[in-house]
Amino acid sequence: MKKGVRKGKGKKSTEKPVACWVEKERLENRIADCLTVILRTSGCSWRRCLMCGFSSEFAKADEKDLKKQLDHAISGKKVEVLKIFTSGSFFDDREVPKVFRKYTYERAEKLGISKLIVESRPEYVFNIDCFGRDFEVEVGIGLETSNDRVREMCINKGFTFNDYVKAAEFLMKKSARVRTYLLLKPPFLSEKEAVEDCLSSIKACERYSNTISINPVYVPGNTYIERLWKAKIYRPPWLWSAVEVLKKGKEITEKTIICDPVGAGSERASHNCGKCDRNVAKAIKDFSLSQNTEIFEDIRCECMSLWEKYGEYENVARFNVLKALQT
Ligand SMILES: [Zn+2]
Repeated sequence: MKKGVRKGKGKKSTEKPVACWVEKERLENRIADCLTVILRTSGCSWRRCLMCGFSSEFAKADEKDLKKQLDHAISGKKVEVLKIFTSGSFFDDREVPKVFRKYTYERAEKLGISKLIVESRPEYVFNIDCFGRDFEVEVGIGLETSNDRVREMCINKGFTFNDYVKAAEFLMKKSARVRTYLLLKPPFLSEKEAVEDCLSSIKACERYSNTISINPVYVPGNTYIERLWKAKIYRPPWLWSAVEVLKKGKEITEKTIICDPVGAGSERASHNCGKCDRNVAKAIKDFSLSQNTEIFEDIRCECMSLWEKYGEYENVARFNVLKALQT
């Protein structure tokens, strides 16, 4: 799930989704139109992650409300890919009733889509109930990092790498696709440690993934990470760090690696010096569609050397957290 700014307008309506929009998405080796729908549900049953700001999106929505939300989003659209996010787990029966899931698959078939993308924590993946439909299914799992201690102590995600592997292997055996989300710069890691953690995570998860999605941290309101950020203990990652992960990540794997730096350029999101943010964020998005790392060759800014120095000095000045949290 893209961690970030997704504020719905006005008062929370259970009959309208949090948001929906059409964007470009990779489909096999080409670019297709994709409808993304963020459904307003009763929310994630875990809700203890340090950087999760989705609680503001939760509301009591029953299956009738969910149907209205989906109909509202789909109405008049012609797309090849449908992404349905819930700020929780699509296959958690408490959050998304089975009847509604069936309704979603039927609507998706009527729409004639080629691919449905949903998200789930690993423990709910085994509830998957859309095999044999007319579309391919891709399940996003928020692994965040392959390091169990970083996931436990810096994110508080509540599952292990092994839990993720079991879920991913199950999906692959059933011919479903796996999209693995990795978090770039959880709290307490330095800039360089964050890049290192992301790269070792790419290496560890690529065999279980069809797509790897790098999510630079966004600092939402009313979260623990916001307290750290306000106290100046935390700075969201530089966009250069995301570029580094994408460039080096492509040397590690041939799998698709994507990144959509939500809110890029703002203080609460991944940012550089302010002058180059827009161009660098655009290059990152272009890369995500084309997978061509040459896009980054022409991107230059004087703040690049500042980012390099920042990383070096920070690592000298502080305790090596990643080393301490080696698993
Ligand atoms: Zn710059």
